[in-house]
Amino acid sequence: MDWSTLWAERMTRMRASEIRELLKLLDQPDIISFAGGIPDPALFPAEAFRAAMTSALSDQNAGVALQYSVSEGYGPLRDWIAEQMTADGIPCTRENILITSGSQQALDYLGKLMLTPGDTALVGWPTYLGAIGAFNAYQPRYAPLIPGDNRAAAEIRAEAQAAGGQVKFAYLSPDFANPTGVSMDRAERLRILDLADELGMAILEDAPYAALRYQGEAVPPILALEIARKGSIDQCRTVYCGSFSKTLAPGLRIGWACAAHEVIGRLVLLKQAADLHTATLNQIATHLVASEHFAAHVPMLRGVYGRRRDLMLAALAREMPEGVHWTRPEGGMFIWLTLPEHLDSAELLARSLRAEKIAFVPGHAFFPDGSGRNTLRLCFTLHDEAMVNEGIARLGRLLGSA
Ligand code: PMP
Repeated sequence: MDWSTLWAERMTRMRASEIRELLKLLDQPDIISFAGGIPDPALFPAEAFRAAMTSALSDQNAGVALQYSVSEGYGPLRDWIAEQMTADGIPCTRENILITSGSQQALDYLGKLMLTPGDTALVGWPTYLGAIGAFNAYQPRYAPLIPGDNRAAAEIRAEAQAAGGQVKFAYLSPDFANPTGVSMDRAERLRILDLADELGMAILEDAPYAALRYQGEAVPPILALEIARKGSIDQCRTVYCGSFSKTLAPGLRIGWACAAHEVIGRLVLLKQAADLHTATLNQIATHLVASEHFAAHVPMLRGVYGRRRDLMLAALAREMPEGVHWTRPEGGMFIWLTLPEHLDSAELLARSLRAEKIAFVPGHAFFPDGSGRNTLRLCFTLHDEAMVNEGIARLGRLLGSA
């Protein structure tokens, strides 16, 4: 059977994710992995979820929890999220919220909703690998969105038209981005709003790490800044994607999109067609755990992850050879290293897995054009002090001998 003649054209750019392959290495006990962007499982609110699941599955409640439900999502959870968003400067109601299976699904639906093959998506350079993976199925062209790059809207538009499409959106993660850990300041957020108005494009604000700030003042979400300018969410071109993956647990797959009612209505059609709704039981349990524990759980995570960030930064300062530079993120999960130009982090990883037994993600995976061979991403949330010190010492030896 020659399947290859049967694949749709949209599969051309679909590739196995390098990170998924790397996550398999976590099973080897002698490897210290800073590769996967994963929360520490020891910190999951497991007891709270056990109680919530038991309650949701009681004789009284099981009929709802195990039944089909509406595509928009579980009403009380949408209300809870709308309240949180309102407190974050984004006044909205449940009508502005769609529950998705992780924010990853929101990215897929937004690509499906807006991208015709040949359209342009503006993305960070580097950017979140999973967003590129989601958008690739819709065959866009990517153009870089780099802070401080003051290319005129007219030039960006002309290039998109020459490529046979239209600039549909800018995708960005303004708080502690994956992979760099870097955040956008208020001025940068306002500039992207100006650019979006000029180009008539949408902004996809992907914010799974926004609650995990360990240092510095919070900057308002882009959607909050836009509402302050335009008066109401229904006038706005920003779609906010949120997630419980980093604050509660990723395995339940609960995320959301928050946007103008008109956008949510379209996304609901896609959700209906794709999977009807996100798992009812998981939504109900997430609502119970979020209402009772979120307010205390997230500050606890900030304390632990903030200390781990400090530890990794201190270890890097001790162990890195001359010529290696890194970001100092105020939150999130990642530190981004830039090595001397002649080094290739993918080759170093192959060597590391044989010799020093540490894992990281080679940075080129996050560039749509495969550039950035001398960069790499470290995740600092997973390991305790001893492992971080040992792992970064090994990385220092690896880079020192390169
Ligand atoms: N966006 C970014 C920037 C991410 O780093 C991730 C997870 N690594 C996601 C979206 C997807 O998260 P989830 O689907 O678990 O909500």
